[in-house]
Amino acid sequence: MTTVAAASPTVAPEPEQFDAVIVGAGFAGLYLFHTLRGKGMRVRVIDAADGVGGTWYWNRYPGARCDVLSVDYSFSFSEEIQQAWVWTEKYAAQPEILRYLEFVADRLDLRRDIRFSTRVEAAIYDDATASWLVRTDDGLTCTARFCIMATGCLSIPKEPDIPGLAAFTGPVYFTSRWPQQHTDFAGQTVGLIGTGSSGIQAGPEIAKTAERLLVFQRTPSFTIPARNIPLADDFMNEIKADYAARRQAARRHPAGHLRPITRRTTFSYDDKERREAFEGAWQRGGQDLFGVFGDLIVDEAANAEIARMIYDKIDEAVADPATAAALKPRGAPLGGRRICLDTDYYAMFNRSNVTLVDVLADPITTVVADGVQTHGAHYRLDALVLATGFDAMTGALLNIDIRGRNGTPLREKWSHGPVSYLGIAIAGFPNLFTITGPGSPSVLSNVVASIEQHVEWLADLFDHMDAHGLRVAEADADAEQAWVRHVYDLAAPTLMIKANSWYLGANVPGKPRVFMPYVGGLDVYRDKADAIAHDGYRGFHFDAETPNVRATHAA
Ligand code: FAD
Ligand code: NAP
Repeated sequence: MTTVAAASPTVAPEPEQFDAVIVGAGFAGLYLFHTLRGKGMRVRVIDAADGVGGTWYWNRYPGARCDVLSVDYSFSFSEEIQQAWVWTEKYAAQPEILRYLEFVADRLDLRRDIRFSTRVEAAIYDDATASWLVRTDDGLTCTARFCIMATGCLSIPKEPDIPGLAAFTGPVYFTSRWPQQHTDFAGQTVGLIGTGSSGIQAGPEIAKTAERLLVFQRTPSFTIPARNIPLADDFMNEIKADYAARRQAARRHPAGHLRPITRRTTFSYDDKERREAFEGAWQRGGQDLFGVFGDLIVDEAANAEIARMIYDKIDEAVADPATAAALKPRGAPLGGRRICLDTDYYAMFNRSNVTLVDVLADPITTVVADGVQTHGAHYRLDALVLATGFDAMTGALLNIDIRGRNGTPLREKWSHGPVSYLGIAIAGFPNLFTITGPGSPSVLSNVVASIEQHVEWLADLFDHMDAHGLRVAEADADAEQAWVRHVYDLAAPTLMIKANSWYLGANVPGKPRVFMPYVGGLDVYRDKADAIAHDGYRGFHFDAETPNVRATHAA
């Protein structure tokens, strides 16, 4: 008889313990990691990507670039980094921004403590130990006192609700999950679905190499020429000579970057002056237009007046009158949805290889094996590009099974829309923090400036907790409700709530309709957050010890 050794039971590895777990290694995760490690905290960063960069890792589509000046859309916290880096274009393209973030990660030696290619599936708060248990898709777990979501506002692609997508036999490219390998559209008929910022940037680049490009447009967007240019060394040197002052001014600006700003109203100009002011801003390009008319986003008549001037520009730029008419945004005010910046978008429609397909007039019914079927036509395609947007602001947070006190799921708490204190903390979810969460200026500002504000504010909160022997911080439900009301009250008088935009969750079927970003400006928000800190973190309550330790003391 042979004896068989009893199989040893598989023992799950003990969770690794950290002071903080950070989910995400984009702008937010990198700066947060650097900051917390600088405090001597033991930190684990986790990202689903196989490299740093977040947005700029994933969105590699042709034409992707920032819409805030490169010199401002970058970290300000390190004089050494801002002096060392040289931006080559007014609006840097994706490869350059990714290289920048890789450079930052290397300079600060961040990569070695980041777990890449790993998705966080769950974060569960344990009341007994006052710590977070974080579980990843590779079966590993770790625990941490703090769990910080640096998961991004625009990081979860929205799958378009078009039947039959799986039947398409050619390649399908999401702009937000663009492959790392070179994509070549030469000789191909390409269908582009989606005409928000991503589609508007990608179209003109794809048109340069594809044999044909069909742009399937449902809702036309307002877009303004970026007028991107290379940056001369002299210009960069000038910026660097006084970078600190520029950054300081950006921190005090509502938008977090130095775009012009005015209180002057549209109808305070006479017709000629107004046209000239508009023309000047249009020729300068970029976001200058917002700086010329101070009432665009609150006054319907002013808004319609500027929209009309943009219609004239479309008529000037697009040779075919029917195409020009179809490209004119309608049904929503200028700025109700994110305004795009483009390079040669309207001119693209004058190319003989580009066709606009108005799928508002003739809706797509299904994708079929060899193309797209609308009610009235069949379009044969070799490749499909989907620029169909994101489950913005809440998508990445609700993708993770986050459970707070008493096992309450965030998905349940936010079932009627996100509620949060300052967009940073959530009542019932102690020591969980969100960078640029709903209720913060985030996507209505230079997001990097917002990220820096959040990270620095949190770092101060952690210092405060250490100094006072506090282990747990949690937002009060009352303070949270008051903040949500404040965010709504600011948005209500604006025209921004009058459009079906992703700011309101309107692009995702079934998503609660709640205006998510803070419209009051980064400067005002910063002052409010600082005042809250100054008042001993008003609206937060703290525990000095873990509950189980308290229980032991009590016994
Ligand atoms: P992200 O860069 O989105 O990084 C989040 C990271 O979290 C991602 O790498 C993701 O993989 C990871 N992650 C999420 N969930 C999980 C999970 N469950 N497990 C593991 N990892 C996870 N803003 C501007 O201000 N100016 C611009 O010009 C501008 N241009 C943009 C262009 C594009 C194409 C897009 C999509 C957005 C743009 N934005 C712009 C917004 C942009 O998202 C922010 O500026 C900024 O990059 C956000 O950084 P972040 O670190 O907060 O998030
Ligand atoms: P988006 O603005 O949400 O645009 C998505 C587009 O896809 C819309 O035109 C939408 O049409 C269309 N679409 C979605 N589902 C569709 C369907 N089933 N059939 C037909 N069309 C469909 O997304 P995005 O362009 O990716 O931009 C998102 C945000 O990312 C921007 O607003 C901006 O904040 C940021 N971004 C910035 C830049 C930059 O310039 N730096 C570049 C890219 C992205 P409908 O509107 O009709 O739904």
